[in-house]
Amino acid sequence: MNSSTPTLQNYSGGQWTPSTGTPTVPVFNPSTGQIIANTPLSTAADVDQAVRTAAKAFPGWSETPVYKRATVLFQYKALLEQHFTEIAQLITRENGKTFAEAQGDLRRGIEVVEFACGIPHLLKGETLPQIAAVMDGASTLEPLGVCAGITPFNFPAMVPMWMYPLAIACGNCFVLKPSEKVPLTANRLAELFTEAGLPPGVFNIVHGGREVVEAICTHPGIAAVSFVGSSNVAERVYQLGCGSGKRVQAAGGAKNVMLVMPDADPDSTVRAIMGAAFGCAGQRCMAGSIVMGVGKAGQGVVDRLHAATNALKVLPTDQSPESEMGPVIDGGARDRLFSLIEKSRSEGASIVRDGRNGIPSKGFFVGPTLLDHVTPGMDLARTELFGPVLSIGRPDSLDAAIQWINGGGYGNGAVIFTRDGGAAREFSRKVQCGMIGVNVGVPAPMAVFAFSGWNRSFFGDLHVQGMEGIRFYTRQKVVFSRWDDAYVRTMGW
Ligand code: NAD
Repeated sequence: MNSSTPTLQNYSGGQWTPSTGTPTVPVFNPSTGQIIANTPLSTAADVDQAVRTAAKAFPGWSETPVYKRATVLFQYKALLEQHFTEIAQLITRENGKTFAEAQGDLRRGIEVVEFACGIPHLLKGETLPQIAAVMDGASTLEPLGVCAGITPFNFPAMVPMWMYPLAIACGNCFVLKPSEKVPLTANRLAELFTEAGLPPGVFNIVHGGREVVEAICTHPGIAAVSFVGSSNVAERVYQLGCGSGKRVQAAGGAKNVMLVMPDADPDSTVRAIMGAAFGCAGQRCMAGSIVMGVGKAGQGVVDRLHAATNALKVLPTDQSPESEMGPVIDGGARDRLFSLIEKSRSEGASIVRDGRNGIPSKGFFVGPTLLDHVTPGMDLARTELFGPVLSIGRPDSLDAAIQWINGGGYGNGAVIFTRDGGAAREFSRKVQCGMIGVNVGVPAPMAVFAFSGWNRSFFGDLHVQGMEGIRFYTRQKVVFSRWDDAYVRTMGW
């Protein structure tokens, strides 16, 4: 760090405001290990100030005609496109993912803004005339007030954008606590929203860690909390938020399986597995973490993956456009993965490719790693590794594989590669998780669908994105009206 490394500020009422917390945590460029900024660890007082600002903006914003709100979103979408390259570069710089991956991160987020542009249609309620004699029934979707979001490091643009564009389109005001590891993208996204015409106070950012999260979960002025991160924190946020009378959607971690049947097309399957396991250096909640080669598929998958991982270009992403895989987020993540690789041997796995070797000397790199002969009882098979470490299991039948998957406890994604429609159907119906891929490596839904985790991958009811997102950020009002004077007179009222 040098003296010119900026300490970031919070964003409240359309202005940058210094945090009242004095401690900070460093933001790294994971490709080099250099500190590029400091995130302030804000306090409960900062949360309170942001919530008050948002609450003040709420009456004006929620009463703004819905077409006017949509106009701001259309303008925001235009500005995001205009600044697309600049924001994607920022994502690469603070997260370490490749520029192509950073573009994908932002593109998925912009798709949510596009979806939110349709808010005049999405917010329409239902009507039922003549539900009783001379009585009409109608329902409307009303905003909740101040909503908050707490986000992880792995998608600096997409995950916050799962939340605030929809909440704000619905007429709410929002307080975001981005990951302290990747605060720069969030700041830029907020600035551009103001430039698009969003009134001050509708979108606010409070930087920090645990104290900010706990203050959000318990603040009486916050109506709803959206969380995305690891499962233990998701569960804690769910309990704390619900216990304080809020609605909460809390998406957690995952352990996603990719099943390869003996009849799968070898080339396209291995390409898809490489993308799912090593894209974003394995730091995706939809990352393929275990590949299961069923029966005869096993050895062929290992051989092809070995060749493909040896050819993968692992380079600093901010300097080498040809980089195909970047670093993990920080030194802690790298060291944790190195010790998992070391431990895998004692658990009985065999290391086919060891990502501790042949990596750039600076930055936080872990090379693509393949661990074979992983079995359901091993820690390796149950723990979310969150890095470019792919386990390989060899169940002898589809049934055995499905049993293994369903014993895992998480429930984000599971994928099958096959040419057999019967096997694909059985897999899709029997696997207990919310997002299934058939010959698709990363079955992450796009903005019109909910991001549908199950089990320990999700705590709550309504998920982020799609119509579930609209439902989450609104509450329903039903109105029954009787307006016929003649009828009222007949009844003697
Ligand atoms: P994390 O749980 O460490 O952090 C997420 C957020 O919670 C951050 O804003 C962080 O500041 C805060 N936080 C961390 N520890 C806390 C604590 N003890 N008390 C209160 N708040 C705390 O997650 P991460 O490392 O930033 O992100 C990776 C995790 O996120 C992985 O488990 C991944 O699977 C998960 N994830 C899930 C989804 C999904 O949709 N299910 C999407 C992206 C990431």
